[in-house]
This record gives sequence, structure tokens and C-alpha cells, in this order.
Amino acid sequence: MKRVAGLSPALSDVGETSLGTLPGVGPRVAEKLAARGLVTLQDLWLQLPRQYEDRTSILPIRDLRPGVAAQVEGMVEAVERGFRYRPMLRVAIVDDSRATLVLRFFHFRAAQVAQFAPGVRLRCFGMPRAGQHGLEIVHPSYRVVDAGEIALGEQLDPVYPAVEGIGPATLRRLIGLALDRLPDEATLELLPAELRQQLQLPSLRSALLTVHRPPRDADVAALLAGSHPAQRRLALEELLAHHLGLRRQRIALQRHKAAPLTGGGTLVQRLGDALPFALTQAQQRVYLQVRDDLAAHSPMLRLVQGDVGSGKTVVAAMAALLAVEAGKQAALMAPTELLAEQHLSTLRGWLEPLGVRVAWLAGKVTGKVRAAAMADVASGAVQVVVGTHALMQEGVVFHDLALAIVDEQHRFGVHQRLALRDKGSGDRVPHQLVLTATPIPRTLAMAAYADLDVSSIDELPPGRKPVHTVALSADRRPELVERIRKACAEGRQAYWVCTLIDDSDEVVAQAAQSTFEALSAALPELRIGLVHGRMKAAMKQATMRAFKDGALDLLVATTVIEVGVDVANASLMIIENAERLGLAQLHQLRGRVGRGSAASSCVMLYQAPLSQLARQRLETMRQTHDGFVIAERDLQLRGPGELLGTRQTGLALFRVADLARDADLLPLVRGLADQLLADAPGNADRIVARWVGGAARYAAA
Ligand code: ADP
Ligand code: MG
Repeated sequence: MKRVAGLSPALSDVGETSLGTLPGVGPRVAEKLAARGLVTLQDLWLQLPRQYEDRTSILPIRDLRPGVAAQVEGMVEAVERGFRYRPMLRVAIVDDSRATLVLRFFHFRAAQVAQFAPGVRLRCFGMPRAGQHGLEIVHPSYRVVDAGEIALGEQLDPVYPAVEGIGPATLRRLIGLALDRLPDEATLELLPAELRQQLQLPSLRSALLTVHRPPRDADVAALLAGSHPAQRRLALEELLAHHLGLRRQRIALQRHKAAPLTGGGTLVQRLGDALPFALTQAQQRVYLQVRDDLAAHSPMLRLVQGDVGSGKTVVAAMAALLAVEAGKQAALMAPTELLAEQHLSTLRGWLEPLGVRVAWLAGKVTGKVRAAAMADVASGAVQVVVGTHALMQEGVVFHDLALAIVDEQHRFGVHQRLALRDKGSGDRVPHQLVLTATPIPRTLAMAAYADLDVSSIDELPPGRKPVHTVALSADRRPELVERIRKACAEGRQAYWVCTLIDDSDEVVAQAAQSTFEALSAALPELRIGLVHGRMKAAMKQATMRAFKDGALDLLVATTVIEVGVDVANASLMIIENAERLGLAQLHQLRGRVGRGSAASSCVMLYQAPLSQLARQRLETMRQTHDGFVIAERDLQLRGPGELLGTRQTGLALFRVADLARDADLLPLVRGLADQLLADAPGNADRIVARWVGGAARYAAA
């Protein structure tokens, strides 16, 4: 490791050489590559094939199988140019196995037609399928060869993800040129040799060459499955790079000072006395962790994960009170106005009796009201500010912000969290408390939140009854209408959730609208409301509030009710097209009921037939209510990209690694990161630059 530290920067930075230095890369090509994030040599090294084509042998035409791509060679026997709906060219070739194959073209030039004279020898590659007259290949790749020409590929040909505006052959050539400039092993390698030996993983150089240019005898099945040692090697380094990026972000933030919040806890005590319930052990434990963090001179960076209804808000309120007691301010941000408004009313209910002023800053607060609120926040007249995530981007100036609380981390980007850093006063940065209702498995949390300490509220308040959960085929809808009628006649409330695979707000809103109309016709005695994403915020708000106040019996809604909304009297939920939702989302939705003392149920309607995966999901929902268990299951069933939501954590952006497949590498990553940060911080930087590149630049700032 140390040897690399002594190298001249020029030598160690070959990978960071601009692609403009490659022959054939002018400004226009460079621009197209850059649009795909391909800027340096190492970007091309890490642009990995998604498929391989085997041109290392020639298959007799007789042995071709539909659906199995292969290379064949034969003599043109007949050419037919026709027109059937569109121009078409058919070329029949025959080989020594005396079998015929048809090559079919829909786009072709005159020169091409001239090329295919009978007797000409063609070497073609493509995917055969059954045609009208035996097997055919549509648009094969081909070239004219001489009879004696026998040179075959030494390696499997890589097929790269397409880059707009650059042909596949050019792309392959450029990546080849970049690979020709791969430095020797000693220069390129950044992982300790002992570790590679122990795991039996190849060097980076050898791994890259194997993946881009697999030898003829390579284990193609393993390569396509992503389980080849060369890919595992790359995945390990990539996971390490992401982890290091987050760790460095944390280190950079913790170099800043934060105001230690060490009030006597009088306000917290008074809140506790006023609450109609006692904290659960888990809430207590997490509060104490938070209190310890807040007493420090470096900023707290803590994630609190807890299932829906586990009572995260009260812990957040207590943390805010510690800031207030220290004479400073706290901000609480939520992803939607609806949710932020609910927090506002909760916090006002709890804090204002204690003499704490709570300000409201959301997008719809405008004009003089907004100006007044901003002035109060800037002067310190207000101690707690509640708003949407946009709060941090709208030039709100705080008097002395000491604590930023972010609800629902999975919708809150790393960038936004970093923006918090600038909102402190003087050289102080605010403490950060992140709340999430999407528990993620421990191993994942370590990778995804390497920049945060994680606490779990893994216990629900007493008295919660599990929600009785069933899956029903959609044709049993009429029974449900009766069930709603009955529940509402007994004074309970119900949700009807409309979902569609099409996530255009418009289409879902229409579906919700027609469901609303149908249910209104079928249940004339009920007071029914409708909320969807296309409605004006004020309308949505009013309807939600009416439902919350018991002025509506049934709420027809899209998944806008997914997060945080709390209506204790709602005890029946119907979810349409449940088979199309992921486990995390189903769990979130179901969490809307079962918040009160009445027995609750959740009916998941599905369109038959169910896929295997959908069946497993619905079954999991019936079996358990534990968000942590559901999260583990979710990870197994569909992989982490979706689990965490795309883009939110950057985890979905892995090039090689797959958290579900490579989960066993994660425990290694943390130790390895410690070792690198201690022994070779320069190498740690290079690994981050290599894999995460630009995305990590803000981390270093
Ligand atoms: P979430 O973790 O989903 O944000 P909330 O903070 O909204 O959960 O809490 C859900 C409900 O449970 C709220 O009505 C809250 O007042 C109540 N609650 C919180 N803690 C307790 C407790 N220890 N005992 C009883 N009810 C509680
Ligand atoms: Mg909540």
C-alpha cells in the first residue's frame, strides 16, 4: 500500500486522463461520452459489458438453436428483395452441413444488396429464431470472408450498454484503447494484497481485463450472472468506494463544530409529564442516544429508524426541546406539505403549552405571512420551525439553528442533507437527526448510511393490535363494498387506496376519480372524500382534515396517504392492485390503519393471475407486521435498488455491485475502510475518485 503513496501524481493519475487524449475523440465525441458520465480513461475502464458474444468458433448451421446467439459461415445461395408492408431483403446462405439459414434485413442500402451475390461467403453472428422457412436471423452482424480465411476471435466479444450518438463498434474501439493504457498492476492496485489472497480475488488490472476481454474458456454463465471472481473483485472495490465516500463526508462534517446542547432537560421533563402516554423502552433508549450526541461539540449525525407508528415524532420533539433549552433553534422538515402540516399541529400541541413558539414555513405560505414568519425565524423570536424539505433551499435565514430534523430519509437526498451544513451560525453546523419509517436491514444500513449513526425504535407502543391482512382477487370487490358499509355503520372509517402501475399522476388521479364515483353511487349513505396528487394542496388538506376529524367515513385516495398520516379511528384499508406494489410501500400503506384501539383490517385486492414474486410479497404481508422482517424479505425478493427507492441513496447507481447478490462482501467493507483511512488515506481518495467520481466531489468540500 505504502509504495503507491510515493508515486508521482502523474503516474498514479493515468486513470484520470481525459478521454480527449484518445485518437478519434474530438470535442463532439467527447461531449456525447460525457453525457453518459464518461470523461476519463477510468470511466471507460469501468464501463462494463452487459453481454458477451461468442465469435471464437463457427457453428454448423444445422446445429443452430432458436434463441441461442451464434456465429455461422456459409455461401449465399439466393437473394430475394421484396416488399411486404415495408422493403425487405432476404438472403439465404448454406454451409457444409447442407442446412440453410435466412438472413433478413429491413433496412439496407443498394451497396449491400450488390454485396450479396450468390457464391459469396459470409460470416454472420446473431440470434436465430423460427421463420417461415426454417431458422432466420434478423439483422445479423456479418462480413464477407474469403474461403481460406479462418482467423477466429481469441476472446468473447463484449457488448456494451449503448451510448447515444456513438456506434457500438466505435465504443468498443474506444474502450479497447482505454484498456490498452491500463497501468501495470502495482500502479493500479489499491487494495491490500493479503486481502485479495485471502478472498482469492484477482488484481484490479486482471479483473478488468477478464471482464472486458474474457478468454475463450471463461465461465460465461458466471460472468452473465455477475458472480465471476473478476466481478466480485470489482464489486468489492465499488462497495468500498461508496462506503469511503460517505465516511469522508461524515469526517468532513464532524470536523466542524456544533453547539453542545446541554440544558437540564426541564422542558423535556414537562413534555413527558403532559403526554397522555409513557415512552416505550425503545423510545427512551433512542432519546438517550440522541441526548448524548447533542451534548457533544461535534455535530450529531444520527438516523432513527422505526416502523410506522413506533413513535418517532415524540423523540424528535424532545430533541428539539433540548435545542430550545440551550437558547437555540430546531427545524423539522417533512417530504410533503400534508405530513409537515401534521407535524406542525402535533408540535404546536405539545410545545406551545410549554411556551415554545413554532413557526410554519411551507411552499404555500406566501406574501406577508411568509415574510413575517421568516423575520421571526431570523430574529430568533421563534424557536422551532416546521416545513417541507424545501425549507433548506429557500434562503431561509435562521437566528441560531442548532438542530435539523429530517423526516422520511428515503425521500431526502444526500445533497439536501449536505445543504443543512450551511445553515448553522458562525462556524457551527447544526446537529442532524434523520427519521425514517423504512427500516433497512443492518448490513444495508452500514453501506447506505455509512455517514450516519443508526438507532432503531424496534418496539411499538403497547395496545396496538396487528392488522388482520388478507389478499383477495379483484372480482370480490362487491363483498368489500358491503364490508365498508358495515364498518362505517359501526362508526369506523375506511381507506380505499387506488394504485396503478402507470405512475403518471394524471392516470392515477382519473382512476381514483372513477372509483370515487362508483363507491359514491354504491354507498349513498356514506360521506366519501377523495384525495389525489393532482388536486390543489388546499383541497387535499381540507379533505384529509375532514377525514381526520371524522367528518368523512370513507377516503378514496392514491398513495399520497402513504407517509405519516395518522387517523386513529380508521380501521379498514383496501388496497387495489396490491400485486403491483413493493413490500415497503404495502407496509407503509398498511401502517395507516391499526393506529387506534379498534381491531383493524387490510384487504389487498389483486388482479389474477399472480406472479410468483407478487404471491410471495402478499404472503409476506399476511405473515408479518414487523418492518424489519419485511425489509429483509424485500431485499431478498427484489434487490435493494427498489427497496431504498431509486436514486435516494446513490446505492441504485452501482455499476457492478448488487447489494442483494454481494451482501456477503459488506461486512468486509467497513474494516477495509478503517484500514485504508488509517494507513493510506491517499488511496482511499483515489478509490472514491475512481468509482464515484464527480458525485464525491461535494463530499470533500
Ligand atoms: P411514527 O414513528 O410513524 O412517526 P408517530 O410519532 O406519528 O409515529 O406516533 C404514532 C402515534 O403513536 C401518535 O399518535 C403518537 O402520539 C403515539 N405514540 C407515540 N409514542 C407512544 C407511546 N409510547 N405510547 C402510546 N402512544 C404513543
Ligand atoms: Mg412519522
